[in-house]
Amino acid sequence: MISFLSSLVLLLSSVNAYTPVSDDTLRSLSRPGTDFDIHNGAILAPILRPRVPGTPGSTAVLEHFVKFFKTTLPDWRLEFQNSTSKTPVTGDKQIPFVNLIAIRDPPFAHVGDVSRLTLVAHYDSKLTPEGFIGAIDSAAPCAMLLHSVRSIDVALTKRWKTIQANPPDDIDMDAQQGVQVFLLDGEEAFGDWTATDSLYGARSLAEHMEHEYYPALSTFKTSLSAIRLFVLLDLLGSKDPIMPSFFATTHWAYKHMAKLEQRLRKLGQFKSDPDPKKGAEKAWLTEGNRSPEMRFQSHISDDHVPFMQRGVEILHMIPWPFPHELWHKIQDDAEHLDPPTVEDWSTLITAFLAEWMDLEGFFDTKKSKQARIDDEEKTEL
Ligand SMILES: [Zn+2]
Repeated sequence: MISFLSSLVLLLSSVNAYTPVSDDTLRSLSRPGTDFDIHNGAILAPILRPRVPGTPGSTAVLEHFVKFFKTTLPDWRLEFQNSTSKTPVTGDKQIPFVNLIAIRDPPFAHVGDVSRLTLVAHYDSKLTPEGFIGAIDSAAPCAMLLHSVRSIDVALTKRWKTIQANPPDDIDMDAQQGVQVFLLDGEEAFGDWTATDSLYGARSLAEHMEHEYYPALSTFKTSLSAIRLFVLLDLLGSKDPIMPSFFATTHWAYKHMAKLEQRLRKLGQFKSDPDPKKGAEKAWLTEGNRSPEMRFQSHISDDHVPFMQRGVEILHMIPWPFPHELWHKIQDDAEHLDPPTVEDWSTLITAFLAEWMDLEGFFDTKKSKQARIDDEEKTEL
């Protein structure tokens, strides 16, 4: 009975091991700086071009992602998942679709025992209108994800080294968690959106992962079942998005994100709304305190669907209503992005990642403290 109780306590503690990040950590999260400049920013600018599947623009953007990981995040493992398909508007030609998967797992864990927080955006752009850039759809979300994983990488390494240096008797599920980024191809329809003309990359990847079996006796049966939470970013980067909570089973994760948004605003960390007093009244994630009677509704078809149909838990970060002045219009270009909003999203996603991966105490907060003291002294003068 005692051992039953202690294992129960252990189980509960591993379920509840969600330590909020401190204000110091929130203030110290790294910022993209010039990397999000739309003209020559190292992360965002190379994505802001047409990138229709199977075209040179698509290949160039994929190469940009690969170079980013190889040069700045060499500990991440890269995988490509390829498929081909005909489309209703390209005749008998087989169009290639290439998904890029970037994975970072704890060095001490066996592959079949690692669950992964999964961050997702699509990198293809729509065939029409001609010259369509798709800045919010989804060049900017791709850039946010690259910046966010780069921003937690050092802290993640530190945490894992600490665990390795002092391994507990029983490494719990949270310690055995990794992170992965899916940069998906072929989300957009070539003609009119249908179940078969859309989500080419996501449909192929979900099917592939469902059959990617781990060794016997692994904690997880397949790489698909190892997805802890599928966080999909889409249509982000224009001002004042309204972000509903779409799914009852992941509303708890939405609430964590909403709380972080409010804390960042109150700390004056949101560039789109730098006044902490006014900031406290605003929210992108408007349903952090929704009443229990409100029904959850989701009718948006997006890259999560093939995964959700296979039982994966989804946090869908997409504004509703869509930003109609931009959505699938030629105006969805670099100039129509709201740069402070793009940066704020990357800060919020970084904070969410830091908290989810339990990284409190592993960020360098000293530098930001000094910067803050300097600022305060300036204000007093
Ligand atoms: Zn789209």
